[in-house]
Amino acid sequence: MKKGLILGIVASFCLAGTVLAGGGGGVHWGYSGETGPAHWGSLAPEFKMCGEGKSQSPINITGAVKGDLPELKFNYDDSDLHLVNNGHTIKADYSSGSSISVGGDRYNLLQFHFHSMSENAIEGELFPLEAHLVHANAAGELAVVGVMFKEGEANPLLEKLWKYTPSKANSTMSVSGSIKVTDLLPKSPAYYAFTGSLTTPPCTEGVRWMVLKQQVTASQEQIAKFRNYFDGHDTNRPVQPLYGRTVYK
Ligand SMILES: [Zn+2]
Repeated sequence: MKKGLILGIVASFCLAGTVLAGGGGGVHWGYSGETGPAHWGSLAPEFKMCGEGKSQSPINITGAVKGDLPELKFNYDDSDLHLVNNGHTIKADYSSGSSISVGGDRYNLLQFHFHSMSENAIEGELFPLEAHLVHANAAGELAVVGVMFKEGEANPLLEKLWKYTPSKANSTMSVSGSIKVTDLLPKSPAYYAFTGSLTTPPCTEGVRWMVLKQQVTASQEQIAKFRNYFDGHDTNRPVQPLYGRTVYK
């Protein structure tokens, strides 16, 4: 296997944080100052849910109630390695054919990306890194699996990702060889469940969130390397009010 052959570096336009973000294309937003999270809702008409939504993500996971949740099954296969630095996060677009199933619902894995600090909190605690595995079903409804990293042993998949991640914003890189996103998962598929939104503009609601209870580890260097892609700045939206939503466990 020819590992690590760089196939190409392609400049691209701002991807507005997620492949699924419609509208508001080209509107600059960030994580601090006048284009920071407190102002997202007024930056563009398409972003108004960021300010007005009552089912926004991330949240502080607390007071979870027993919900007899269906088992979360990962049907993840290998993928080509295709990385995007969109100026807001590092995103790995995933080859088609991988999915999760949960209670008879099936969602295809589209991409995964990271935030530092974590976006969701558990009992008020933020983690240094959170991965979001973004899925969609045939109807286009989204399901995001959140994985929390604490500082500890290095993660082999992060090692591979960071090795090829373009350090320049708005650039992509495709590398031969393959990755498997299961290398980011903890042993237990137990999760917290709640409804929420995209955590970046346009903050679209109706997202099925599943945050894994068990954490994995990344080394201090790996966490620092991710943060350095963004000059050491945070890339997390603060937690949002629950407005009566229930978190299930
Ligand atoms: Zn995210």
